[in-house]
Amino acid sequence: MLKTGALTIITILTLLIGLATSSLAGEVKTVEVLKNVYTIVDGEGVDSNTTIITTTEGVIVIDTRPTPTEARKVLKEIRKLTDLPIVYTINTHYHGDHTFGNQVFKNSKTIIAHKNVRDTLIKSGQSHLSLFKTFGLPGMDEVEVTPPNIVYEKGMEIWLGGYRLQLLYHGKGHTNGDTIIFIDQLRTVITGDLVFNKKIPYMADAYIEEWIESLNYIELLKNETVIPGHGPIGGRPTIIAMKHYLIDLKEHVLQQLKGKKSLEETQNAVEPILRKKYKDWKQLDWIKGNIERAWSEYSSKEKA
Ligand SMILES: [Zn+2]
Repeated sequence: MLKTGALTIITILTLLIGLATSSLAGEVKTVEVLKNVYTIVDGEGVDSNTTIITTTEGVIVIDTRPTPTEARKVLKEIRKLTDLPIVYTINTHYHGDHTFGNQVFKNSKTIIAHKNVRDTLIKSGQSHLSLFKTFGLPGMDEVEVTPPNIVYEKGMEIWLGGYRLQLLYHGKGHTNGDTIIFIDQLRTVITGDLVFNKKIPYMADAYIEEWIESLNYIELLKNETVIPGHGPIGGRPTIIAMKHYLIDLKEHVLQQLKGKKSLEETQNAVEPILRKKYKDWKQLDWIKGNIERAWSEYSSKEKA
């Protein structure tokens, strides 16, 4: 119980710190990644990325930002590009900064995600929303938790206007319901929060061992362009950098566990090392919570 409580407090604190930093990031910015593929980066409040794909048969939206207010900005961006209807909305995972704008897109009737995203939002969407309400984001009171209404378990494909999107699930990682979207013909992968670019990842729901496996799997896909869940558009080195961070975290924590170190001792030993190595990444304050997550995961594995 104590461990869970402490983890929750650290989670809240770290998220708050994260918000304080990212809200300074400035205006919503739409980047033309490739022809017909646009990503809104550096969003206000929380900097989760939203990707828009415009096709001759309609629009696909990937992730919906943290509030309806922010989601309406996405809608406005879409209307600058096309008058065609929004056909599919996809959530890469359940976190509020990727799903709390869903209600703005529910007229399209199809909000797609992994089955665990729907289950989690139904089971604990309200408490997740309560947590988000503590961040002081404008427009949070308007949020109605809107779970996806089309779900898959192993994988699915979407065909629209000449594009094929493969929705791939490779087990647990950043959460228990991460979708990897691969667009073969564009050599592009949309990773959700399995990849943060130049930013320390958020790990409160993470399964580090499986996350590393998921990144190995993404590396095997023939991709050149990588659209991460947070941070600027990247390429294959972005995936590798993310994997190296997780492996560094794991290895340093395992070393401490071998010496039977407590959580506090582990944090004191490992945090300065990671802070130094990743000093040019954003959100260094999340490292301490990440060490806690790794310490919990690997100490329970050692006992098993
Ligand atoms: Zn997330």
